Amino acid sequence: MVYADAHCHLDFDEFDIDRHELIVQCAASGVKLLVIPGVGRARWSKILRLSAKYSNVYPCVGLHPCFLDLHRDDDITALERVLLMHREIVAVGEIGLDLTMGQQARQLSMFEQQIDLANRFKLPVVMHSRKAHNLILQVLKRKALVSGGLIHGFSGSYEQAVEFWRLGVYLGLGGVVTYERAQKTRQAFSKLPLESIVLETDSPDMPISGKQGERNTPLNIPLIHKAFCSTRAEREEDINDQLMKNTLNLFGMLGH
Ligand SMILES: [Zn+2]
Repeated sequence: MVYADAHCHLDFDEFDIDRHELIVQCAASGVKLLVIPGVGRARWSKILRLSAKYSNVYPCVGLHPCFLDLHRDDDITALERVLLMHREIVAVGEIGLDLTMGQQARQLSMFEQQIDLANRFKLPVVMHSRKAHNLILQVLKRKALVSGGLIHGFSGSYEQAVEFWRLGVYLGLGGVVTYERAQKTRQAFSKLPLESIVLETDSPDMPISGKQGERNTPLNIPLIHKAFCSTRAEREEDINDQLMKNTLNLFGMLGH
């Protein structure tokens, strides 16, 4: 089977020692499509270089709410320039809101400015949300997404998931599905329409069950897929086909 990792930070330093080997190994093990989100201005060029070097790597650029102290106000202008210059960029991200961090007004302002940019360039957004699902839903009701988006590492309720999906936002499922105790999330994903889900690892974070303390990599996607399939009634191959289609659809890659 062929898989996609819709959200992995392969640009992070944790991968400096073996990034090339890992990306090659991913392709060999069927994880054929890797989407790397950009968390801050200083990282964008590295991600763009990776996507130029590897045909299975797709770049996103954005300003992540957890790195607010690194962002400057003119980073938004820089983001606009990069989007103009690099048509290979598949999404604006990682952006979003994190209510466990401070400076909520500035978070909100940067989030909304980046949604505006994504809409202008007709790109989807890749969103981080911690304790912020309802606030993000409010923003998206005011500011509709032109090309949809992804809420990555979703761990909210079924009802919230359905609301996101109504607004054109895919739900990203990662290693959490491998944990028996993550009942709420597992149940939500077992009931959601298959058309609304994509798989991701959030590597190097979000380790899968049994591999806590280890670096997470996209090579774990087949295990996440298997754990997800065990919660669903559909055939494994059909689930795989649909999830691949969803990733291609979300990032505008159909026909590539
Ligand atoms: Zn992330």
